[in-house]
Amino acid sequence: MLTEAETQELIRLRRYFHRRPELGFQERATAEAIAARLREYGYTVRTGVGGTGVVGELNGHEDGPTVLLRADIDALPIQEENDVAYRSMHPGIMHACGHDGHMAIALTVARRLMRLRSRLPGRVKVVFQPAEELLSGARKMVEDGVLEHPHVDAAFGLHLWNNLDVGMVGVVAGPMMASVDRFEIVIEGRGGHGAMPHQTVDAIVVASHVVAALQTVVSRNTDPLDAAVVTIGTIRGGQAFNIIAERSTLTGTVRTFDPTTYETIPNMIERVVAGVCHSLGARYTMRYDRLCQPTVNDPEMAELARQAASEVVGPENIVQTKEARTMGGEDMSVFLQRVPGCYFFVGSRNRAKGLDRPHHSSRFDFDEAALSIGVEILERLTMNYLARAAS
Ligand SMILES: [Zn+2]
Ligand SMILES: [Zn+2]
Repeated sequence: MLTEAETQELIRLRRYFHRRPELGFQERATAEAIAARLREYGYTVRTGVGGTGVVGELNGHEDGPTVLLRADIDALPIQEENDVAYRSMHPGIMHACGHDGHMAIALTVARRLMRLRSRLPGRVKVVFQPAEELLSGARKMVEDGVLEHPHVDAAFGLHLWNNLDVGMVGVVAGPMMASVDRFEIVIEGRGGHGAMPHQTVDAIVVASHVVAALQTVVSRNTDPLDAAVVTIGTIRGGQAFNIIAERSTLTGTVRTFDPTTYETIPNMIERVVAGVCHSLGARYTMRYDRLCQPTVNDPEMAELARQAASEVVGPENIVQTKEARTMGGEDMSVFLQRVPGCYFFVGSRNRAKGLDRPHHSSRFDFDEAALSIGVEILERLTMNYLARAAS
């Protein structure tokens, strides 16, 4: 249990970060503030890991395993519309996803674990990761060796979650957040006079057919028991009302949990685009980027997380249904692809207090009671994992 003073300090920390949001890979002041605190707590600190990342190391028993605790530190390009005392001081930038809370939780856990150092059966790496919203900070940190020296045996992290009420915790084994792909399709037709379509290939008409046909990728080609999403986010083309467009450009995203769908869906999309363009006499180019893989929890680690969470909020408040999964993406997946671990949701919504706006909203805010819940679960999980490995 946190003392009243610790809880107050935890909230102060969260508000400190909330007032000073920075975008991905620009988190310099944030990183400095984190590093200063970690040093003050007695940690060995590395900065500039994977750009603006910070790693604090705590060495307990040398023979024990190493646990990685991950908090993301970046904010979003959003103008905050909340009228609160701790409102963002930086115009157009806001902690609208809860990463301010993740930092406060991880720092508090770090401080509390330091007190247990002499009986810590292993080591802890507290990892403050930049640019989660850009889905690229985790990869950068891994490339910079964050999983080695010492080698990381397990990774844990949490997301404050406004899709669950405060007091609830969502933990599932297996995939819990989706992959994120991005694609761009450029359709090349033949432009011309708006009144003489027979002389042209209308890139707008072709794009319209492509959009409609892409709806069948999920509805007719993927297994209905395996969730997938294909979304066209933008469509651009044309110059004037009386000109037939030469070119149109579509961008979109694909989300899935299932490894087979993940492998096959780019080809399904391209087949549809190629077929439609061919049938209408247009050409196309397609660019397809894999931004991140599904976030998949190791079943054993998920069970450990579920137990730790049950000890804190009670088994009746553990959510293992679809509310504990989302088609949103997370680059925690980069760590979990390489080491077993678990990522879980700590409920932070409180409708009675009006704290129920979705993540990435300009009015996003959460119930700060979720912070101490996060601290207690992460701390217990770390201790339980290390103790289990030692026995
Ligand atoms: Zn986010
Ligand atoms: Zn987030």
